[in-house]
Amino acid sequence: MTGADETEMCDLLELAARLGRDPLVIQGPGGNISLKRDGVMWVKASGTWMAEATERSILIPVDIAAVLAGLAAGDPACETCNAFVRRDLSELPLRPSIETTLHAVMPQRVVVHVHCVETISFACLSDAVERLAAPLSGLSWTFVPYIRPGASLGRSIADHLAAGTDVVILGKHGLVVAGDSVLQADQLRTEVSRRLARSGRAAPMVDRAALEGARGDGYSIAEDDRWHAIATDPISLAAARRGSLYPDHVVFLGPGLVTTEAGERASDAARRHGRAAVPLVAVPGAGVLLHEAATPGARALIRCLADVTSRLSGDDPVEPLSPEEEAQLLDWDAEKYRQSLDARIS
Ligand SMILES: [Zn+2]
Repeated sequence: MTGADETEMCDLLELAARLGRDPLVIQGPGGNISLKRDGVMWVKASGTWMAEATERSILIPVDIAAVLAGLAAGDPACETCNAFVRRDLSELPLRPSIETTLHAVMPQRVVVHVHCVETISFACLSDAVERLAAPLSGLSWTFVPYIRPGASLGRSIADHLAAGTDVVILGKHGLVVAGDSVLQADQLRTEVSRRLARSGRAAPMVDRAALEGARGDGYSIAEDDRWHAIATDPISLAAARRGSLYPDHVVFLGPGLVTTEAGERASDAARRHGRAAVPLVAVPGAGVLLHEAATPGARALIRCLADVTSRLSGDDPVEPLSPEEEAQLLDWDAEKYRQSLDARIS
């Protein structure tokens, strides 16, 4: 590796760590980053955290030509891309990101995929394309309707790319930006976030007495006051009750939102929803309760739900994932693998 190559890799990892520590950009093990060089694409490993990019190895080398040929041929190996890892270049015993194909189909050297809260607050609306047109005017952007992450999302993005497209809004999911340098990609990400920024509403007061009453065994009052807005802010609560707004919500918190009824305990509410225990239970008007087994990934996604819903207005046409789309995420081996890594570090 030349000195310039090393500098570029350091810049990439520093960017990954900086973005990974910003909960408005990345939550938990979500999002990913890649760099293409000499026929190899270094992409984030599944289940690793961008926030840790400068502390441990998070990048896995994959053979770009093999991924693209597999996608063109409909090879099922593209679902995980594990078969395309250049094990001769890395001893990291992990799989590449489930979003590897998304990076491979973008022609630019550097690709950054983030679950940017500002972007998601538009991408979860049924009229996202119309709403994005004015703020993104002048950028080379495209919108890709929701499709489960994995090979089919990679193919769908490839179908939507025109020459020079470097901003992709993923419906009910997030943002992809690309550039020929780390700096260029990051500047573009910052620009898109800036253009889509909406300030979140301040949250009403938490009702701790009501939360104590609903707590029961295994649940505690969430320590971060911002999280309670999911249940105390009527607009946020109504949006969250519509369903799951993006894939990582389903993967780390389970589908939808469990809410208590008057006088009901959190554990009974979970059972009424057909689930033994859930990381998050909302007590309408009072605040949110957290299960003691909530993983770091789940906690990050609770904050995300508060941040996204606080940016929505009452008449925003929220369009959640369908029950079939939720089931697809939960039954998927690649996501079970990512969940298992989250559980291991909790
Ligand atoms: Zn994603």
